[in-house]
Amino acid sequence: MSTKELVNEMEYSVGIDIGGTKIAAGIVNKSGNIVFRRSAPTPQSSRNEVLDLLDDMIQACFHYANHNGSLPLKGIGIGTAGQIDFHQGRVLSGTANIADWNDVALRDEISKITSLPVWVDNDVNVIALAEHYLGAAQAESNILFLALGTGVGGGIISEGRLIHGAWGSAGELGHLSVNMDGPECKCGFRGCLETYASGTGIANRMREKLSELHVRQDPEPEHITSQLVFQLMKSGDKIAGQVVEEMIHALSYAIVSLIHIFNPTMIVLGGGVVEDGEWIRLSVEKQVHAIGLRSMVHPVQIQLAKLGPNAGIIGAAYQSWIY
Ligand SMILES: [Zn+2]
Repeated sequence: MSTKELVNEMEYSVGIDIGGTKIAAGIVNKSGNIVFRRSAPTPQSSRNEVLDLLDDMIQACFHYANHNGSLPLKGIGIGTAGQIDFHQGRVLSGTANIADWNDVALRDEISKITSLPVWVDNDVNVIALAEHYLGAAQAESNILFLALGTGVGGGIISEGRLIHGAWGSAGELGHLSVNMDGPECKCGFRGCLETYASGTGIANRMREKLSELHVRQDPEPEHITSQLVFQLMKSGDKIAGQVVEEMIHALSYAIVSLIHIFNPTMIVLGGGVVEDGEWIRLSVEKQVHAIGLRSMVHPVQIQLAKLGPNAGIIGAAYQSWIY
């Protein structure tokens, strides 16, 4: 182990990942190792319950740090779903998946219980940081991260810096429209990438096509998921095949537009939709390399995210080392 790595191993930070179903917190070192971890279901009634749970988890982290050789903690980093005012550490508009998670002065609330510095950012932005510093894009300074899950989230790292925009909401790449006559998105726009390439979008497209064609009642509309659509496509189902083709098309067009804007060297795809998604990566890479300005699109690598389900905690904690 080099001296640099030894130093890194001795620096620790608390990372907290606030999602719609689960909240996870941990103590992370600069090499991305999680030495202590806690998680619990996201409380569903009020913000105060969420804040109380965060308090409990932070106290558990402090307790562990104090009783294990007084680990020096550099700060507390939080990644949460929603639109975040990064400078104020405030959740402006949260997500329908967390009750009452709107206009929450999260950094101020956490600062009431600790004197450590606190950072709050969007959950996908911090995963982009984790993949940039420790995951699929370590050698790259210009990357775009797309998280294909229930929705589509994005993170932009340009010239080595995560791009926040005026107050923190840059990188909502899921709401890049790829079709102005396309399906209506919950954001109010039309033909957003999210309506074609999120788990929800893929399942909705399959339901719509089945109901337009009145061909069959199998599978039952409520049982359709993106993974089921992929299975049907692989077993030769034509309608599922069209939905998947549309998804690959939408992703490729969105990525090419993003390449034209940001001139990245790598696109990282993460999230549940691309679990076992090497075939998606290959199809998108092939299409991206075939359309758009050749000098820009051809050198861009498409990679799958590497860090898995703990990327949110690791990236949240990483804020302590970069700001
Ligand atoms: Zn949208």
